[in-house]
Amino acid sequence: MTLQLQSQVSLKPFNSFGVDVRAQLFAEAHSDADVREALAYSAEHAVPLLVIGGGSNLLLTADIAALVLRMATRGIRVLSDNGRQVVIEAEAGESWHPFVQWTLAQGLSGLENLSLIPGTVGAAPMQNIGAYGVEIKDVFAGLTALDRQTGELRDFTLAECNFAYRDSLFKQQVGRWLILRVRFAVDRVEHLHLEYGPVRQRLTEQGIDHPTATDVSQAICSIRNEKLPDPAVLGNAGSFFKNPLVSNVLAAQIRLEHPGLVGYPQADGRVKLAAGWLIEQAGWKGFRDGDAGVHHLQSLVLVNYGTATGLELLNLAQRIQKDIAERFNVELEMEPNQY
Ligand code: FAD
Ligand code: NAP
Repeated sequence: MTLQLQSQVSLKPFNSFGVDVRAQLFAEAHSDADVREALAYSAEHAVPLLVIGGGSNLLLTADIAALVLRMATRGIRVLSDNGRQVVIEAEAGESWHPFVQWTLAQGLSGLENLSLIPGTVGAAPMQNIGAYGVEIKDVFAGLTALDRQTGELRDFTLAECNFAYRDSLFKQQVGRWLILRVRFAVDRVEHLHLEYGPVRQRLTEQGIDHPTATDVSQAICSIRNEKLPDPAVLGNAGSFFKNPLVSNVLAAQIRLEHPGLVGYPQADGRVKLAAGWLIEQAGWKGFRDGDAGVHHLQSLVLVNYGTATGLELLNLAQRIQKDIAERFNVELEMEPNQY
């Protein structure tokens, strides 16, 4: 028995919103054996199991009547290297950004656009994390998960993960798959993605005409640091809403009244609207009610100024959803996982 169970633990340090709720039981998993022990405890004592990583995509609205298992497994290894492409495997509990930095330090590119995303490697496939035109599906080479229903291990290929915009099989079948380790195919030859948002502009401002993957990572870190609140200073879970995919007919209707509408045509004919733009147009940018608010620089980010509860944040989110639906006929879907 290596699992250290603690009772009535505050989850405030374990969620980036800094919401203060308690876990009935709390433990950290440092090995596959710890994970299996937690599953066995959960079954034997009829206590639900909630697996978390860095807690950067959670909205906790009440005390958690469960065993909260925080993934803290460590390990990064090279599985294959053909001189051009390298397959790396990382344990679920590895922190995402240091892992990205590790690949760059080895001269491997592919993950640079995903720099500075908080959280763990194991949670990254859950919503197919994405930023600046790259999603993990673009560099994904497989993962190993434990089927919580049968206790069996299963390897998943790219096709089996159903990755989509901020979505995956693991999110669709929430609570079934416990991701233990993830594999990535990264390159010794750089294929950089610079055409998204302000990335190339930032590099140009820095006088960099022929960037390396590390230059791209640094440029993205500097853009993110300017625009996004640091959860260590101001509680938040990143983008609170997904960017809605709407028909081109609806996008055209909105544009008639709002010529400045920010939208990106998709391959399937739909248009991805910038949810942050809609929220800002509706006047919510910088709004504050008690300690729950909308960030003053990025209206897609809800923030906790100190003592906001999960329910207060949820209430604010629902007010925004209702307003956007009434003004633009657009449904905003929440991104963080609510418990
Ligand atoms: P948690 O919040 O701990 O968990 C998220 C979900 O995954 C929960 O449902 C949990 O039960 C489940 N889970 C966690 N670990 C496992 C596991 N090993 N096996 C099975 N299920 C598991 N996201 C983006 O996509 N792009 C961004 O650019 C981005 N920027 C962000 C910026 C900020 C400032 C913040 C606060 C968040 C941002 N996010 C972004 C959201 C978040 O960082 C990611 O979704 C991240 O992958 C969450 O990782 P986590 O370890 O914190 O997961
Ligand atoms: P931004 O650059 O201000 O752009 C606003 C929105 O427009 C983004 O959400 C993005 O959608 C979309 N967009 C911009 N350029 C695009 C292009 N060339 N093609 C298609 N869509 C485009 O966004 P931001 O808020 O500063 O975030 C920058 C990047 O980091 C985005 O990719 C964003 O998703 C990611 N991010 C995510 C989170 C999170 O919690 N999920 C938090 C912070 C940042 P997409 O979001 O679909 O890319």
